[in-house]
Amino acid sequence: MATTVQTPDTTHTPVVQSATAAQRSARTIKVEIKRQATPDAAARTEKFEIPYRPNMNITSLLGEIACDPVTSSGQATTPIAYDANCLEEICGSCAMLINGRARMACSALVDKLTGPKGEGTITLAPLSKFPVVRDLAVDRSVLFENLKAVKAWVPIDGTYDLGGGPRQFPQLQETLYPLSNCISCTICMEVCPQFNDSTNFVGAATIAQVKLFNNHPTGAVLKEERLRALAGDGGVQECGFAQNCVEACPKQLPLTEAISDVSRDVIVQQVKDFFTR
Ligand code: SF4
Repeated sequence: MATTVQTPDTTHTPVVQSATAAQRSARTIKVEIKRQATPDAAARTEKFEIPYRPNMNITSLLGEIACDPVTSSGQATTPIAYDANCLEEICGSCAMLINGRARMACSALVDKLTGPKGEGTITLAPLSKFPVVRDLAVDRSVLFENLKAVKAWVPIDGTYDLGGGPRQFPQLQETLYPLSNCISCTICMEVCPQFNDSTNFVGAATIAQVKLFNNHPTGAVLKEERLRALAGDGGVQECGFAQNCVEACPKQLPLTEAISDVSRDVIVQQVKDFFTR
C-alpha cells in the first residue's frame, strides 16, 4: 500500500479546489488538530479557522491549511502531516480520529460534521493505538507484520505462465469477495478493546484475511500454517467479541462472521494436531 505523508518538505500538491467567488463566504469552519512534531515530542493542539466551501471533506480541509498554515490566533505554523493517497476510500491511508471517531478523512464530509450553519468545532487526532510518526500520520506496520505472520497471500511458484487459475463456485466467490475489500485502514484494530499495549491480539483484519486465503483453492495450501499462527499468543481466542470492528469497518466487511469461522477452524486444527503429533 503506497502512502503519502504530507510534510512541509514534500512537493506533494495538496488537493484543493479553488473556490469561486459565489462559493466564498464569511462562514468559516473551526478545526482543532492534535499535533506532534516527532514520535517522541509532546503533543499539542492547534486551532484553525478555514473559509467554508461546499462539499469539502477532511482531506481538502487539511489541504486548505497546507496552502496557508496560520492558526486562528494568527500564528504562522507548518502544514499538518497526514497520510493520504487515493482520496476515495480505497487505499486505507487516511484513517484518523475525527470528532473522536475512527474513520477515513476522505469520506468524512465537513457539512455532516458541523451544524447546519457551520456551528461546532471539528476535532482531528491521530489514531490512538499506533505510534505517531508526525501529527496525524501513524505507523501501522503492525498490521502488515501480522499479515506476514499468517501468510496472507496466495503462494504462486515460478515466473512461467501458470495458465488460468483454479475455478471457484460463484457461491464461494460471493462469500469471499467482501473480505477482499479490506483496505488495511486499521480502524477495526483502533476500536477493538482487545487490541492494546498488554495483548498481542492480531485484530479482525488479519483474521478476516485468513478466512479469505484459506478458502482460496490455491491459497488453501497454507491453511494449516495460518491456523497454527492464530492458535497461540495474540491469536483468534483473544477476541472478546465486542463487535466494535464490524460496526466501524468502513468497507462493511463481515468481520464477526470471519472471526467465528476462523475460531472454529483453529480449534479443529488444534485437535487434529493433538492426535497426529
Ligand atoms: Fe479497515 Fe475493515 Fe480492513 Fe479493518 S477489516 S482494516 S476496518 S477495511
